[in-house]
Amino acid sequence: MQKFSNATEAALTLRPDVPVYCFRPQVLTADAKSFMEAFPGRTAYAVKTNGEPMVLETLAKAGVDLFDVASPGEFAAVRAVAPKAEMLYMHPIKAQSDIRLALETYGIRVMSLDHEDEVAKILRIVRALDLDPASITIFVRIQTKGHAAYELSKKFGAAPAHAVELLQRCHRIGFKVGLCFHVGSQIEDPETYERALASADWVRNRADVPLAGLDVGGGFPAEYGHDPRRKKPQMPGLGQIMSRLRSDIQDWGFADMPLVAEPGRVVVARAFSLIVRVLLRKGRRLYINDGIWASLSDSWTGKITLPARFIPDPARTRRTGNPGTISAFRVCGATCDSVDILSRPFWLPETVDTGDWIEIGHIGAYSLSLRTRFNGFYPDTFVEVETPFGEAEGYASLETMAD
Ligand SMILES: *Cc1c(COP(=O)(O)O)cnc(C)c1O
Repeated sequence: MQKFSNATEAALTLRPDVPVYCFRPQVLTADAKSFMEAFPGRTAYAVKTNGEPMVLETLAKAGVDLFDVASPGEFAAVRAVAPKAEMLYMHPIKAQSDIRLALETYGIRVMSLDHEDEVAKILRIVRALDLDPASITIFVRIQTKGHAAYELSKKFGAAPAHAVELLQRCHRIGFKVGLCFHVGSQIEDPETYERALASADWVRNRADVPLAGLDVGGGFPAEYGHDPRRKKPQMPGLGQIMSRLRSDIQDWGFADMPLVAEPGRVVVARAFSLIVRVLLRKGRRLYINDGIWASLSDSWTGKITLPARFIPDPARTRRTGNPGTISAFRVCGATCDSVDILSRPFWLPETVDTGDWIEIGHIGAYSLSLRTRFNGFYPDTFVEVETPFGEAEGYASLETMAD
């Protein structure tokens, strides 16, 4: 992979017409380590967030030895780069053949569920493979409530009374049992974990079975940009969220049991930026060479304002507008699909024009993993970059607008 000091250097050297991902292994290593240091338990990286081999390999080197996986493709991706790493199969609803593959071929011994039919499915395979149920830990996933860019409790999780029954049923079979939740992605309310811990405590007290662990899931928010016309949302940083979570874990009496977290977004978001090119400017609209069917789907559905940095093409000699004036530009994607327009504008100097580049920061989570080949566009060009996005030249001047 070609290496550059920053994205501007990459853009001006390569003059790319296709989107280019700028990978920052040092940033990924640092963010993974700081999560692991701050969380009072084991860290299982959620592979779906970004399962690229370069990411999994860098994480394994940084000391991540536990991965949250959901499919045969993810089992194989982890095994390929980190053969000794342990995997947690935390998808509550699994295909029978995938359960068999996990137990038999990959030696996975931790799974989650939220329904008795899933207990029956797992038990059938455990019996067929002649495994001891006591060698397997089943995490019962409980429903949670809260605010996040992506709510997940409408889809997964057992109501508290149902979770009590499931814990007791799994315990009676001889499985080790634990409790888990996943509050959704990019939480928007720091109380979210406490509410989930309160439910977990209620379930634990009613179930009255020995618990092998508590898994608090993911959801830890990454830093993005914000709309300068609106008040900056009062969301505390990871440090504060973690110290709050640590004290909530104490207060609810979970500090003495094995704990797991499954962060995805917060670990990998800053590790990539994306250089896109302005294919055409039409008034206040920019048509770029990426979009919602490629790298920008998460920002579209999650209504996330992405931090954007202007990389002017020095070959353009005539420009109109004041370079110091930052304006909102509507961003249209590369495909011929009419919905391929971002839900949030980019904030850029008004001189931006056809042929210029834009570096989109903090794009490591749910970008590469959600790319499609729709309309024949599939961004797949990578370079390595040393300087963190926020420290790059031209970013500081826009900080008030796009931090
Ligand atoms: C997606 C997912 C995660 C990761 O969520 P982030 O918000 O990216 O941290 C963790 N656990 C489960 C079960 C998930 O589905």
